[in-house]
Amino acid sequence: MTALPTDAAPIFALVGRPGAGKGTQGRLLAERVGVPTLSTGDLLREAAETSTPLGRTIERYLSRGHLVPNRVVLELLWTRLEELSTYGCGVVLDGFPRNIRQALALDHVISPRRLDLIVELAVRQEVATERLLARRRSDDGLETIQRRMDAYDRTTVPMIEWFQQAGRLVRLEAHHPAEVVHRRLCEAVESLGASNVMSPRRQQ
Ligand code: AMP
Repeated sequence: MTALPTDAAPIFALVGRPGAGKGTQGRLLAERVGVPTLSTGDLLREAAETSTPLGRTIERYLSRGHLVPNRVVLELLWTRLEELSTYGCGVVLDGFPRNIRQALALDHVISPRRLDLIVELAVRQEVATERLLARRRSDDGLETIQRRMDAYDRTTVPMIEWFQQAGRLVRLEAHHPAEVVHRRLCEAVESLGASNVMSPRRQQ
């Protein structure tokens, strides 16, 4: 794995329970900052559509609402990040990292750099569940949603607490309308002294 991305290129990560709005906020932030967004959920859904043994294995995890094993996620993500680093640009990660091992692996891969910003989009489970049910993706049935929520509470919450204790996390209330959350997210980016990462063409 080559070093990625270049020094000036920002690396952000959005974490939060399913239905918190990571996809929407990731796209908005990426557009504002002028970098691509990279969703491990999208990567895995793409891989699951291939009729290979790996694709079928991934599909089983997705349809059951279980986290896909780290080895598989990391392999797919590193490959995509390496492609991005060719262009020397930053990235907004959506849905990654989701557990402490993934966070450590990311720290290692981008070392000596660190994530510029890790944002938790915090929303109550009932609100998130309602959003997911309205969306109707194939893994958005009630039983699968419950398993995804359980995986979040069991595996991702300890990672969030770990980042919080290290003073590396910003928590944003995510039950507000998308444009309000986006504004606060941009403020969080700016308050970190990362305002220079705002794309000039979008800064009015
Ligand atoms: P998302 O699109 O982020 O809601 O993710 C959809 C599904 O993809 C999740 O329920 C997991 O099964 C899987 N997934 C996405 N990101 C990860 C990750 N970082 N680690 C493990 N599984 C993941």
